[in-house]
Amino acid sequence: MGAVGEVDVHAGDAATVATLGRVTAQQPPRVGVLALQGDVAEHLEMVAAAGARPVVVKRREELAAVDGIVLPGGESTTIGKLAAMYGLLEPLRERLAAGLPAFGTCAGAILLAREALHADGRRADQPLLGGMDTVVRRNAFGRQVASFETDLDVAGVDGGPMHAVFIRAPWIERAGPAVEVLAVAPTPLGAKVVVARQGRLLASAFHPELTGDGRLHAAFVRLVEQVRAAGG
Ligand code: GLN
Repeated sequence: MGAVGEVDVHAGDAATVATLGRVTAQQPPRVGVLALQGDVAEHLEMVAAAGARPVVVKRREELAAVDGIVLPGGESTTIGKLAAMYGLLEPLRERLAAGLPAFGTCAGAILLAREALHADGRRADQPLLGGMDTVVRRNAFGRQVASFETDLDVAGVDGGPMHAVFIRAPWIERAGPAVEVLAVAPTPLGAKVVVARQGRLLASAFHPELTGDGRLHAAFVRLVEQVRAAGG
């Protein structure tokens, strides 16, 4: 992607990068959206609205060029299979392990977990990307409330609650000490974690791309900028 006349400093040699240091600082980060399934167009728009350069990621070369990535919702098993088919599963795992910032929404939050459970608590045998010290329960809200909407206070997101759309959503059943809980949703079984962060990784059980509320995407883009400013 990129506008005409844009300077690709990532591909430059050391001298070019030094000369263009000032330009580098001014270039918005490239934020990819994994484009295998889900609301890819909506996420790209929200990434752009947050001031980043949006990048469709379907191939390894595209993944290699991004400073951060959004993992959309859909069906986590399908996304995992497609990622394997497209040769993206290992490259994604490697980049996440090397510190690539990622924002997983719904199925994307499942992919970032270290373990996934089915709704009934059985362990789900499916390819994950990992990175977060979380165990997620898929389709956790049950059949009757497979899809619902509610308003949620999200820590670090100013300006009032976010309107959250949950679609056959997971919740975070267990989280290690490095995981910061940013939002919980009330359920008949008590409050359940639905937004969490672990360092450069952000996970949301709901679909922020469906409401036009760009505050979580903006928080993610700021995180990507910080990581890049700190030298990756
Ligand atoms: N139920 C899906 C899964 O378990 C997630 C749903 C979604 O992303 N909206 O993968």
